[in-house]
Amino acid sequence: MNNKVKSVMIGHAVGDAVGVPVEFTPREELDDEPVVDMEEYGTYSMPKGSWSDDTSMALCALDAFDENKLNFDKVMRNFALWYDKDEYTPTGVMFDVGNTCSTAIENYTKYRLSWKECGQENEYGNGNGSLMRIHPFVLYTYRLETDIRTKIDIVELASALTHAHQRAKTACGIYAFILWELLDNPTKEAVNVGLQKGKEYYRNNSQYSHYARLFDANFLHTRREDIKSGGYVVDTIEAAIWCLLTTDTYRDCILKAVNLGDDTDTVAAIAGGLAGALYGYEGIPQAWRDALLRRQYIEELCDKHLPF
Ligand SMILES: [Mg+2]
Repeated sequence: MNNKVKSVMIGHAVGDAVGVPVEFTPREELDDEPVVDMEEYGTYSMPKGSWSDDTSMALCALDAFDENKLNFDKVMRNFALWYDKDEYTPTGVMFDVGNTCSTAIENYTKYRLSWKECGQENEYGNGNGSLMRIHPFVLYTYRLETDIRTKIDIVELASALTHAHQRAKTACGIYAFILWELLDNPTKEAVNVGLQKGKEYYRNNSQYSHYARLFDANFLHTRREDIKSGGYVVDTIEAAIWCLLTTDTYRDCILKAVNLGDDTDTVAAIAGGLAGALYGYEGIPQAWRDALLRRQYIEELCDKHLPF
């Protein structure tokens, strides 16, 4: 079985699906009544195992690799198929989309901009909407035989399809350093090695100060009340990595992420992709894998486009 890609893609989708029923629920409410398993209905009244835009947009990206080659036009066309035609959805209905993503997709379809011009460049476009769908590009570049700068440039271009400000692009780059390390060496130490490589790479980057806390050796000891879980990309990558570093199983990582509240599906999806790489496919609870809608379809896309 081709484990690496499926571990990440299914790890991400399952995290998304555990988070969907309680998206936007405040932390205080979850403190009183924590999520302890994959649930149904809730915020969007979707059946159990439903995944959201985080997974849909990632599948759009995955399905755009023609013979393992990168085609950003096809990624944008697939985003449009999801947004306009409900493709790449768990039940045939597209039920959530972020503003920055919808604007970028309409820039492509309605205003006919090139893929290079669709993403939002201003500072207010720094939501987590590119980070939540970056993993197929990180998996793709993992096996690319080229230098790090070229790989990171591809990851940043992939972010810029929707999120073109350097802060969102940097978050995707940092995530890439971590996931590449985890794919080589599935240990928590690899997460720290990835963070250090990201720190080194982005040392002179204009956005470095925004990631200084994440790069700090004591980040692991950040108190839960100081971890934010809204839609801002810096908060999201911090929350996902904090959950990964402070738990010892896939299940605990996801439940910790979801119970932070607010943007539950995206924090759990990003933590889940990394936790999938760390604990492996079998480390994802079987009951959750079995409940995931269209899991076979997701796995077929993995086999077709990134077979490793
Ligand atoms: Mg979502």
